[in-house]
Amino acid sequence: MRVLYLMGAFYLAALVLLWAGRLGKLSRRTALPASVLCLLAGSGVLAAATLPFGSGYGPTVTKLADLPVTGPAAGRMQGDNAISLRENAVALTFDDGPYPPYTERLLDTLKEKQIHATFFLVASQAQRYPELVQRMAAEGHTVGLHAFRHRDFLKLTAEERQNDLALGKKTLAAITGKELRYWRPPHGFRDPSVMQAAAEQNLTVVNWSVIPRDWTGIDKQEIYNRVMDKTEAGAIILLHDGDSPFYRASRQPTVDAVAPLIDSLRKKGYHLVSLDEYAEIIRGSER
Ligand SMILES: [Zn+2]
Repeated sequence: MRVLYLMGAFYLAALVLLWAGRLGKLSRRTALPASVLCLLAGSGVLAAATLPFGSGYGPTVTKLADLPVTGPAAGRMQGDNAISLRENAVALTFDDGPYPPYTERLLDTLKEKQIHATFFLVASQAQRYPELVQRMAAEGHTVGLHAFRHRDFLKLTAEERQNDLALGKKTLAAITGKELRYWRPPHGFRDPSVMQAAAEQNLTVVNWSVIPRDWTGIDKQEIYNRVMDKTEAGAIILLHDGDSPFYRASRQPTVDAVAPLIDSLRKKGYHLVSLDEYAEIIRGSER
C-alpha cells in the first residue's frame, strides 16, 4: 500500500463530504466534522511515513536499543565491560557520501580519534569513489545503504524500489566484500510498501534520534550545539558527509564539528560505536 494514494483518498473524501454538506445531501453538522476527520487521517498517514520515529508501518530503528541483533558473539567484548558499553553507547551516522574531499577528511578525524561510525552511502556515488568506500570498510566503519540513486521512495513504483535497493546492495557488497544489513531510506521516508521492499531485501531500516539539520547552512558551532543538546545514551545521530543529489554544498562545517563532538561526548561518558560494533557489544553482554 502506498501512503500517497491513501492520503489522496482521505483528502478526496474530505472534499466530497464538504460538497455533500453544501448541496444538502448531508447535514452540515455531519459533513463538517467528518470532513475534518478525513483531513486529519490523511495528514496522519503522511506524518507516520515522513517523521523519522515510530514503527507504525514496520520496524524502524531510531535508537540503538531498537537494533535487532542475532548470531553468536565474535568474543571481542564480554561480560561487565560489554554491559557498561551498551548502556552508554551513542552512534554517529553519516548520509549521502562518499563525497570527496569531505569524506576523506572525516575518515582522517575518525581514525585520529579512534572511533567507528556508520555510513549510509549513495551507491551511484560509491561507484565513482570506490577507494573511499574500501577505506571505510578497511578502517572498521559500518557501511549501510542509503539508495542507489537518492530519490523519494514514497514516489517510486514497486519495481523501481526493488531495482534501486537490489542494485545498491549489489554495488556496495561488490566494493566492500561484505553483505549489507542496514538501510536508511532517503529523507527517512517509509510507508508499508517501502517497508515491504526493505524486508524483501533483508535490510533493517535505520533512522535517527538526533538531527542537527547540518545541511541547512549552519556553522560548525551550531551543529555541535544542536547535537550536544539532544544526545542521550542510545542516540543515533544523523550528520551528512555528502550532498545528494547534486553534490555542490560544502560539508566542511560538519567535518569540523565532528572532532569536538567526539571529545565532548566522550567526556560525558558516552562510547561512540558503529552499528556493527553495537551489535557485537549486545552479543557480548548477553553471554
Ligand atoms: Zn540523504
